[in-house]
Amino acid sequence: RRLVQAVRPGDTVARLGGDEFAVLLDGHNRYLTPSVVAERIQELLRQPMLVDGHELFAPASIGLATGDNVDDAEALLRDADAARYIAKGKGKSQVEVFSPEMHTRMKHRLTLATELRRAVGAGELALRYQPIVELATSRIVGFEALVRWRHPDRGMVMPTEFIPLAENTGTIVALGRWVLIEACAAISSMHAATQPDRRPVTVTVNLSARQFQEPNLAADLASIAIEAGVQPSSIALELTETTLMDDVESALATMDALKAYGFRLALDDFGTGYSSLSYLKRLPLDILKIDKSFVSGMSTPQGEGMIQTILRLGDTFGLSTLAEGIETDEARVRLRDMHCTYGQGFLFAEPLRRKEAVALIADDAPLGEGVASGAEPSTAR
Ligand code: C2E
Ligand code: CA
Ligand code: CA
Repeated sequence: RRLVQAVRPGDTVARLGGDEFAVLLDGHNRYLTPSVVAERIQELLRQPMLVDGHELFAPASIGLATGDNVDDAEALLRDADAARYIAKGKGKSQVEVFSPEMHTRMKHRLTLATELRRAVGAGELALRYQPIVELATSRIVGFEALVRWRHPDRGMVMPTEFIPLAENTGTIVALGRWVLIEACAAISSMHAATQPDRRPVTVTVNLSARQFQEPNLAADLASIAIEAGVQPSSIALELTETTLMDDVESALATMDALKAYGFRLALDDFGTGYSSLSYLKRLPLDILKIDKSFVSGMSTPQGEGMIQTILRLGDTFGLSTLAEGIETDEARVRLRDMHCTYGQGFLFAEPLRRKEAVALIADDAPLGEGVASGAEPSTAR
């Protein structure tokens, strides 16, 4: 009804399916351009909808295309959809006008999505392991598993390039299972290399929101671990605040199930999402990961204050704290002195191959202590 209000009597409004709608403007003039109509639609959608006494907002991403260079309706819809896709990527309530260059980008994405789906089964994925260090002792207590794609033509592709794609296409579910299977194999060889008097390491694995929607996630992950002969307590699963936001109640149920199997849970990138203190109290977490943006900003008094606040929060809720992105010795020492539990970052080591990670465990030397007297020089680059 809102869409119909935004157009003239001769125009067409249709629902394509799901939450997608199409508006066909039958000719336009200098004053009533598609952009003007799009702005009118946005304006009308900015008003809340009253449902069951609740005010709901339904912002829209709008793509515009003109029929000037196309011969059929299908091509027109395809162009508008490509523009809408780009608009959506830019955030809420954006409008984009189609350009031929968008078509190329969509095609590229489609190729990449197909290749990625194949890559999971074709052995093109690899894991790197970044050491996590106990700041008080500089000893390795674990690793974060980070995925890479060894693309046959493009070389090493980083996860920021393909994880969002895998999430959008659903490939993340198969990819995520592969990551856990591979991480379990690594844990076994890491534990085999551990000195008898040392605590076995924990490996953390990232979970996407999309994986969290899988109905049997907890049981599925637990059976992967058990089949590999790895205790779920040797695995920490990292989730982000955005993962939890989608549906807090069902996320809570999944987290409780994961905890019941013995997995440890970490909240990744803490402070960058929409954290609310009331959630933090309810979530069965073990570790709070302080995002690297806070660590890189800690040289100012305000930045340090932020870190202090997060550390105190962790304390209040009985959580361990882990600072990500530690690149300097100053940051390491300061965080250690502020009683942050763990640290991770290029100062200690970049993400390593499995063999290198296992060698570090066998070595059992402190990591990242710059000039500390008597300490062995760091073996990591
Ligand atoms: P993240 O979970 O926040 O991972 C940390 C990222 O910071 C990694 O990038 C790591 O290489 C980088 N990093 C580590 N130390 C430092 C440092 O001292 N300084 C700076 N500037 N960066 C540092 P990477 O490996 O490119 O991963 C990027 C993101 O991709 C990850 O962010 C995570 O969200 C996602 N990701 C990686 N592997 C997986 C996976 O197996 N599954 C899922 N769902 N997501 C993954
Ligand atoms: Ca992570
Ligand atoms: Ca992170």
